[in-house]
Amino acid sequence: MFRWLFLNESALTPAEHAAWKLSALRIILMSGFLLEAAVAIHSSVNAFAVGAYQVLWVVGFFYLVLSLGLYYSSRHLRAGAAILIGTVYASSFAIVCLINQYDIAKFGYIFIYTTPIIARLFFGTRLAIGLMVFNILPFLLLLLNRPLLTVPGFDVTLPASNTYVQSLLFLFFNTCVPLAVFRVLHELDLSALRYRQASAELVVSHAQYEEVFQNAGTALLLTDASGQILQANQQANSLLGRNASGDEEDLALFAWLSLDNSVRLKSPNSDESENMRMSAYRTRDGKLVALENISQTSTDHYIVALRDVSGLHSMHHALQLSLEREDYLSRHDALTNLPNRDMLRSHLQEILSNIDENKVTALVSFRLNSIRHANQQFGAHTGDILLRRFAEELSRVLPKNCFCARLRSIVFSFVVEQSRTPGEIIKLVERVRNTLPRELEVNGENLLVQFSAGIALVRPEDTEPDDLIRRSEVALDTARRSSDQSVTLFDEDDAQQIRRSVEIEVGIVNGLKQNEFRMVYQPKVDRDGNIASLEALLRWESPNLGNVTPAEFIPIAERAGLIRLISNFVMNQVSYQIRQWLDRYGDCPVIALNLSATDIARNDLLHLIDSSCHRYDIAPSYIEFEITETGLIANEALTIHHLGELKTRGFNIAIDDFGTGYSSLSKLSHFPAQSVKIDRSFVAQIGHNQKSEMIIKAIISLANILSCRTVAEGVENVEQESFLKEIGCDYFQGYYYYRPLEVSAMELLLAEMPAREQAPAFQFKLA
Ligand code: C2E
Ligand code: CA
Ligand code: CA
Repeated sequence: MFRWLFLNESALTPAEHAAWKLSALRIILMSGFLLEAAVAIHSSVNAFAVGAYQVLWVVGFFYLVLSLGLYYSSRHLRAGAAILIGTVYASSFAIVCLINQYDIAKFGYIFIYTTPIIARLFFGTRLAIGLMVFNILPFLLLLLNRPLLTVPGFDVTLPASNTYVQSLLFLFFNTCVPLAVFRVLHELDLSALRYRQASAELVVSHAQYEEVFQNAGTALLLTDASGQILQANQQANSLLGRNASGDEEDLALFAWLSLDNSVRLKSPNSDESENMRMSAYRTRDGKLVALENISQTSTDHYIVALRDVSGLHSMHHALQLSLEREDYLSRHDALTNLPNRDMLRSHLQEILSNIDENKVTALVSFRLNSIRHANQQFGAHTGDILLRRFAEELSRVLPKNCFCARLRSIVFSFVVEQSRTPGEIIKLVERVRNTLPRELEVNGENLLVQFSAGIALVRPEDTEPDDLIRRSEVALDTARRSSDQSVTLFDEDDAQQIRRSVEIEVGIVNGLKQNEFRMVYQPKVDRDGNIASLEALLRWESPNLGNVTPAEFIPIAERAGLIRLISNFVMNQVSYQIRQWLDRYGDCPVIALNLSATDIARNDLLHLIDSSCHRYDIAPSYIEFEITETGLIANEALTIHHLGELKTRGFNIAIDDFGTGYSSLSKLSHFPAQSVKIDRSFVAQIGHNQKSEMIIKAIISLANILSCRTVAEGVENVEQESFLKEIGCDYFQGYYYYRPLEVSAMELLLAEMPAREQAPAFQFKLA
């Protein structure tokens, strides 16, 4: 019962935080209920005695209402309180209106004066003030000394009415309301006490927190969820070089924290090693700081532990350096600091996987033979120094970027890349050999430097660096055995290739002087099989080398820079021939001559052609130039310019070997060509490969669109001819019609040709 009346917080659910309100309400209602019971019972007994039963009804009614109030108070505090206020007004007005003796009845108004305080307790100030104002009404009525109204025929006046009213007043004002107020004041006292206790605890716990935060032995930051620093302990401040109130360093730090936090804050408990991998922060004074740990507080803040990792970092750096050094040592020779065999192998591997077939690459090895003499006479130490000095000299003499390695004890190898001809490589090796000193001074002694050299050329089929190294060793061995002198020899296959290439190079120059070159002419025929034009092809009969095909000597001449000599010769020969035939037969077919890619980019190309035509007095329309598709792409802008010039002068232009280059068919329209020669490789596939047939068809239809004539080269049989005719090819060339013919054979053909006036063979020239 006591607990029910004076209930404390623990008796209530958390939602009902104002326990004291309910308690006060219950106190008023209950004390009213009990204390005033005596008055009620007494008055009821009296009323019963005098037969004033209406009093019983009124008393009963109020008891019922009070019971209801009590009943509702625990569930609906406000309902209970409203019932209480209503009861006070109702009982007041009941006293005022139902007791006919106004002297007694007017005391009823006094109850009303308690309503503002009750309203304040349970509903708040607004209602309380409203009631204060409302209560002016009974106050005025009291001043006027008038009853509010009387209910005729309904009087509850009893003989002891005055006593009852006064008793009720006494009990209500002197007991019920004070008790409720006590309860409230008690609550206030309790709250104040609790508040004081809590703040004392708070002070202690804050002090403890500060103590822990400041003396945690680690640099700590307290940040909000975004990484903004709320607090930093002394260690953190001194680690970060930050003053206690924060400074602009915080901005950078904030950026770093929020960067890392975005990763970390999502998973504060992520694995330790993961955390350590996070980037370090560099403070103004150069220290490196790492985030060591981060933990989330219950208030959504983060405690960030920082660590100075500058020491660790420099250790890591040193370790890195030593690893790099180790790696370097594992790939370099300790004595000479040159790359070792392993590194040479990986370098060669790289070269072999990107080989350019138009260039020549070689592995050259030098063996320092005189080392044995130095070792025997002055000891191994001196020998070592000689080796080192030799390595230095070799590196100095070699072209820059030349990869030089110590292959094994006294053998050094270097790679000559991207030479144009084998001859160039030999020249380079000879220059190196001649530039190397004959003697080196070691410890005051002049030591002889004698070595042999071996060359191994990279072959197109080479894939294994070890094969190349082995061949260079074989060459070296042969060189050493053949003589004690420093000689350069080769692996036999390479030797042959190099010798031949050098011989061809030298042979071309001599051969041009000695008239070893001559032209042959291969006719191109039209759809009726009549000769439409000729192609001039070069032949070389060398007294030393025998028959050398253009396929072999033209690329060598191109790489050795000799092609211009050849082209001058061809241009002259062809012009001369045209003049001869014009004089002899009155007319001459158009003659096509082949220009190589390097020709077409020559600045003096136009001059050469013009002067040659001029010398023999030949109209440009008798000459056609065949330029390979690859030649066109190599120097596109200059080529287009030169071809444009030639076309303006009236020369014919054909694109040779069409389809073998990588240019798109659409590029054809950029070149001012009148005809396109379909490459022999496609023609050879006719009847065997549908793809090639499709390509031929595509070339022909494109050429038609561009008004280019089409010439199929390398036609060798009737199947090829009929296919090509069927799809609309204009001209044909190949062994099926004519092989390349010597001038004499060609002249027989020309002489046999029908009357020249109608000769269809010559229509090409006029087209
Ligand atoms: P190309 O311009 O494609 O010349 C056609 C080549 O195909 C010629 O070889 C010719 O003899 C050969 N040929 C013609 N009909 C047939 C056939 O039905 N079947 C086969 N299998 N081959 C046939 P050649 O004379 O050995 O010339 C080879 C290449 O050398 C020429 O290819 C051309 O690129 C170049 N060349 C020849 N003469 C000269 C020249 O005077 N100057 C320049 N720069 N290059 C030339
Ligand atoms: Ca050709
Ligand atoms: Ca061709």
